[in-house]
Amino acid sequence: MPIGEALIGTCGTAIYTGEPVICADVENSAQWSAAWRQLCLANGIRACYSHPAQGHGSRAVGSFFLCLGEAREPNAWEKRVAEFGALATGSVVERERAAAHLRKQLDSLARLQELSAELVGPGQFELLLKKILAAAADISGTDKGNIQIWDPVKRSLRIVVHQGLGARLVEHFLEDGWDASCGEAARHIQRLVVPDVLELDALRGTLGLEIVVEDDIRSIQCTPLLSRDGRLLGMLNNHYRQPGGPSPDALRYIDLLARQAAELVERHQHESELAQERQHKDEFLAMLAHELRNPLAPMRNMLEVQKRSQGNWPQVMEANEVIERQLLQLVRLVDDLLDVNRINRGKLELRMESVALDAVVQQAIEMCRPALEARGHQLQLTLPSQPVAVHGDSARLTQVLGNLLTNAAKYTASGGLIQLQVECHAPQVTITVQDNGSGIPEDQLDHIFEMFSQVDRSLERSQGGLGIGLMLVKRLVEMHGGTVQAQSDGLGHGSRFTVVLPLPEAELAALPAPTPPPLTIPRRILVADDNNDAATSLAAILKMEGHHAHTVCSGAEP
Ligand code: ADP
Repeated sequence: MPIGEALIGTCGTAIYTGEPVICADVENSAQWSAAWRQLCLANGIRACYSHPAQGHGSRAVGSFFLCLGEAREPNAWEKRVAEFGALATGSVVERERAAAHLRKQLDSLARLQELSAELVGPGQFELLLKKILAAAADISGTDKGNIQIWDPVKRSLRIVVHQGLGARLVEHFLEDGWDASCGEAARHIQRLVVPDVLELDALRGTLGLEIVVEDDIRSIQCTPLLSRDGRLLGMLNNHYRQPGGPSPDALRYIDLLARQAAELVERHQHESELAQERQHKDEFLAMLAHELRNPLAPMRNMLEVQKRSQGNWPQVMEANEVIERQLLQLVRLVDDLLDVNRINRGKLELRMESVALDAVVQQAIEMCRPALEARGHQLQLTLPSQPVAVHGDSARLTQVLGNLLTNAAKYTASGGLIQLQVECHAPQVTITVQDNGSGIPEDQLDHIFEMFSQVDRSLERSQGGLGIGLMLVKRLVEMHGGTVQAQSDGLGHGSRFTVVLPLPEAELAALPAPTPPPLTIPRRILVADDNNDAATSLAAILKMEGHHAHTVCSGAEP
């Protein structure tokens, strides 16, 4: 019999009001429902006395029903019997409920313990997340829910596992939970329980609400998954058919499950990063081997040419040029690698002085001239009318511009136009290197400054390189207190790199007086190197410059 304000039967009324209820004449008491009276009469009940059975709290947990075979008031003894019966009923119901509650808690704990054991092992990420979700749903009395992962770059929550939800709901909120209640909870990094979706102002009149209601959802709980250092990793959400949401007990278990889910997500992300790093390293080693081998083949060939040239001077000179070019390529590669290593270990030091920017630009152009000429590029140079001085390391600034110009030459088809422009707008100077070459896809613009980042990562790509040049450019520019930025209208539309450097205070701006080339004074030089070839070759160059050079390969040699 339903319980409530409507006077249907005595027991329901006793439970509802918390007071004993007497019906001395069932047949003629019209205030009770006809169906209830018929049921009583069919069972020979002519009068009755319902006493509410009190639990521990203030609400009745049931009622003791004393039935009389004749229409009359219950006597004092019968009332005492009903009172006692109600007391016993109350404690039996309470005990049963407490036992059921305890059983449920034990079940939940066992489930948590089982899950914890599984999470320690390897296991598949999504399968384990599904198990956590199933446990959260079960424990909080529903079959609906999902787990979302937070993407800090796209600033979106993506559903990765779900259960009991309709396809329309999953599709609607797949990437787009940011505006829904889970997004609200995520923004505040705090659990949100929506006790009744129909009462939530933010949802009123939205398509989201229509879909949620269509899915038979009245209340929702959204618990953030947080890393150990408090970063948002995702959300654990459950959806309930009734208003009210989960009980406080269930929420406590959901907290534990959310912790497990967060650890799983964090571990998974960490493992994915490691795997990616490993893959990058393998790719890098393959590329490094490739890049180191490339110059070696022509050098070896040209050495053979020299050996067989029998004094053919033009042939020897041509072979020399090839060897020199390829050697320079190798030296640059190794220098770049060493620089990366130094920068990563914080060991790269700048020799800061007042530097004439025109000189830096000219040196960089000289450095890249072979690459520019080999491809027949046109270089357009625009310098400010007044000389500009910056506070920096001349060699490193040359390296920065040299790398940008080399890239412009490399990634532009023959006969391209490369523009180098220096503009001075106090308190900064802007250097732009622009080409009309292959361009850079928009989604790569931010990444190309990362170590080993290349738009085309195949070994068969037409342009060599290790993907460290731009990373060096960025770090060196930053060490000078500046910034570098890449722009492109996309593939095939050229690229533009903009370096901005701070201009020094007025007193620093004084340009250094050009230093005359040093005169060579013949000296006696000892070249000590355990690499005999290195020692001999260096001594040979020193002798050509008019010095007296002597080589030793160890400290023991005279
Ligand atoms: P590398 O040239 O050795 O590959 P970098 O670090 O210098 O390495 O450049 C990283 C990537 O950026 C290149 O592989 C290329 O994909 C892209 N890139 C750099 N400069 C340009 C440019 N001027 N035009 C088009 N793409 C470029």
